[in-house]
Amino acid sequence: AKELGKGSIKLYKQGMTDSRRKSLQLESALRDALANDEIQVYWQPQINLQSGEFVGAEVLARWESKTLGWVAPDVFIPIAENAGLMSQLTRIVFAKTCNALISMPSAIRERLKVAVNLSALDISQPGLLDDMLAELHKHALSPSRFELELTESALLDMDTQQLASFKDAGFCLALDDFGTGYSSLAYLNTLPFDVLKIDKSFIAQIPREQSSCSLTHSIIQMGRELGCEIVAEGVETVEQVVFLTKEQCHKVQGYLYTKPLPIDEFVDYCESYQSP
Ligand code: C2E
Ligand code: CA
Ligand code: CA
Ligand code: CA
Repeated sequence: AKELGKGSIKLYKQGMTDSRRKSLQLESALRDALANDEIQVYWQPQINLQSGEFVGAEVLARWESKTLGWVAPDVFIPIAENAGLMSQLTRIVFAKTCNALISMPSAIRERLKVAVNLSALDISQPGLLDDMLAELHKHALSPSRFELELTESALLDMDTQQLASFKDAGFCLALDDFGTGYSSLAYLNTLPFDVLKIDKSFIAQIPREQSSCSLTHSIIQMGRELGCEIVAEGVETVEQVVFLTKEQCHKVQGYLYTKPLPIDEFVDYCESYQSP
């Protein structure tokens, strides 16, 4: 490293500055996006493996920035968290979800359990639960129609009491990306989860890789014994569906069915859906 000399250090610093500048630029664009209604929600159907019918959907935030083009949630969610914008974003996503729900044909709406992603910061956000309940009340929607998805990282230093208050209010709770964290099992013992979502990194290796098949098998067995509903995400092939059906996984979602869709296309998808 000694030989790198002054020029390299300058370059290195320049690099740091660039990424810092980039993230400030994103942060300011995101502020504008929240104010200017640039955030949309897309819908990805979930299929019940036993009946073959669609029974739910996960809503995923989408951002097409006027200045930056499409920005992926993996990029803008952390920016929102670091910039103190997360609770605003969550409120927007939830309100848009409710609006889309009441605007869709009731025959479809009534079949849907709707999964919404929450950030770690949301659970401890004072007032969020009350605001969500008020939003539901406005549209005469019941919290039991919703599954709130949390990742393990969200649970690391979470106030269990606060999480339980969402459950007590009638929301279902889903543990997302299950199996990727350090202590997935411990959470199941102490927290009131209704749904386990097997991480797509395991599903991607089925049926090719024995260890992913074994892990998926065990997660389903254990989840079922604990009375949880099991959802597999990232399902892309028929072989995966065959495996997951044999293992008695409850629900699946993934590109095999469709990528997440804007609400109009989602409704079209549901209307023309034929169970296999
Ligand atoms: P996630 O909650 O684990 O969501 C699943 C991701 O897998 C989504 O990526 C989805 O589009 C993608 N996916 C669906 N089917 C397939 C498939 O068959 N194959 C593959 N390879 N991927 C598939 P997306 O929409 O880019 O979201 C990324 C992450 O951003 C989400 O991961 C979630 O953690 C976060 N996120 C998205 N929307 C929100 C939101 O409204 N609030 C919060 N807090 N986080 C969100
Ligand atoms: Ca999710
Ligand atoms: Ca996930
Ligand atoms: Ca994820």
